[in-house]
Amino acid sequence: MDRYRPWLPVSDATPALSLGEGATPLVHLRRLGGQLGLTNLHVKIEGMNPTGSFKDRGMVVAVAKALEAGARSIICASTGNTSASAAAYGAAAGLEVVVVLPKGAIAIGKLLQALVASARVVAIDGNFDQALAVVRELAARDDHPITLVNSVNPHRLAGQKTAAFEICDDLGRAPDILAIPVGNAGNISAYWAGFTDYVMAGIVERRPRMLGFQAAGAAPIVLGHPVEQPDTIATAIRIGNPASWTLATEARDESGGRIEAVTDEEILAAYRDVVRLEGIFCEPSSAASLAGVAKLARAGELDQDALIVAVLTGNGLKDPHTAEAHAGASILDAAPTVDAVRAVLEW
Ligand SMILES: *Cc1c(COP(=O)(O)O)cnc(C)c1O
Repeated sequence: MDRYRPWLPVSDATPALSLGEGATPLVHLRRLGGQLGLTNLHVKIEGMNPTGSFKDRGMVVAVAKALEAGARSIICASTGNTSASAAAYGAAAGLEVVVVLPKGAIAIGKLLQALVASARVVAIDGNFDQALAVVRELAARDDHPITLVNSVNPHRLAGQKTAAFEICDDLGRAPDILAIPVGNAGNISAYWAGFTDYVMAGIVERRPRMLGFQAAGAAPIVLGHPVEQPDTIATAIRIGNPASWTLATEARDESGGRIEAVTDEEILAAYRDVVRLEGIFCEPSSAASLAGVAKLARAGELDQDALIVAVLTGNGLKDPHTAEAHAGASILDAAPTVDAVRAVLEW
């Protein structure tokens, strides 16, 4: 919030709040890029934020603004990372935090983040879209004042724009292509707003083409209609009726970009490749951006020297079950002797 203060809806009346969010690494993928025939492929590692996802960029602003307005409680629906972030910033701000989650569809690390920070966690027998409808209505009532901190809160998107600023500041220009997973569609909209701010201010000349990727089982924007029962291994983007649908399609169309679907198999392949070839452990939903880039690159639809940034939205440590089930690595057991260890290593 300090670095990009002039671009944010904050003033001297806004309470100071920070857990050290932002300033995440932009890393050149030489090996994976080489395999795909792309010389200039980078990732923005948003899993390096304090609670392990980009949600912190917007949550810090939303919670600071809630404090400024005198709020005592915040509420959100979540596929996991919003709840982890709300729980952390709410704790730091001394606010009551209520999170409403789809039962059984949250990665264990995210759920524990909310619980250990002592958020009040309500699991509903329903999906994210239903949880969002419930919290929107709860926040709209006057009998129990509570601030909604989902990405329909404009302060969230304002804070999330800072990732686009950082990418331009690091590269000295905007990328040619920005690839990003799309769930509730707030983040793609925030990046587009950030790039637009920088062009309007004359800091960069052009905006990137925006390539958004949904999971095939939860691809309402690709299909052109809401999906009743979204289903994908990528739980953070398991959303059937995105709140920022229109903003996302505007970003796509104004940028000459696309929003496409990638299958769970393609997501898991990218999830494994980026850690095996580059050492970067992201969560499955994050890998949708790279899965999409890989698919288009293999189809010959990307210039080989295009400056591409794929956003890796969250940290792989959040979802150990998917790692265990799909990473395919196995432990070699051995007795505590040099010979036994040499034997299992086949040396
Ligand atoms: C929230 C989230 C997304 C989706 O972002 P939207 O703004 O909802 O489109 C993607 N990946 C991860 C890891 C997330 O936490």
